[in-house]
Amino acid sequence: MRPFKVPDIAQHLLGGFTWHKERNHQSIYLTFDDGPVSGVTDFVLNELGRRNMKATFFMVGSNVQKSGSLALEVCKAGHGIGNHTYHHLNGAKTAEHSYLEDIEKCQQEIMGKTGVNTRLFRPPYGRLTCSQKRSIQSQHEIVLWELISWDFRKEMSPGRSLQQLKRKTTNGSIVLFHDQKKSEGFLRAMLPDYLDFLAGEGYATQPL
Ligand SMILES: [Zn+2]
Repeated sequence: MRPFKVPDIAQHLLGGFTWHKERNHQSIYLTFDDGPVSGVTDFVLNELGRRNMKATFFMVGSNVQKSGSLALEVCKAGHGIGNHTYHHLNGAKTAEHSYLEDIEKCQQEIMGKTGVNTRLFRPPYGRLTCSQKRSIQSQHEIVLWELISWDFRKEMSPGRSLQQLKRKTTNGSIVLFHDQKKSEGFLRAMLPDYLDFLAGEGYATQPL
């Protein structure tokens, strides 16, 4: 069975990452990785906008290059933007200098299209070497997640994901979704209900 919550012990052992935010405010932090992608990111923006909710989008540089106006829309709607590398690289399989160059290329692409010089970084696949981590930390806050929707897994049902996320959401949770084609049907099936649940429970949603 796939866990929806990263165990506390893992969060504790893997220091130097942001897994969640403060527990004493009734706020949660929605995050969307791998966009911007036309048809998916706009759907997410629309669902968030009609409920006046905010999120953070960890963007892939090559997608920002292709869909610059969508990246700008995310920014103008008041959402946060983070760096997710230019080519969606796996840090564990990439030499450090290439990896850092790719992050910088993404940083410049985001800045060029939106004017945002983001301090947020999320490694694709959550994979980084210790040395890469140390280098990145001098420029960026490295944000992982506490709750994962599994919206990219074909065998996961949106209904089960919704039920588990509702059960495990708590103050300060950082929740991972993907605004990519692979996840589109999943998001359309469960994101509106999850957002309604958050509103009904009185959670505020904020950019990181
Ligand atoms: Zn990703």
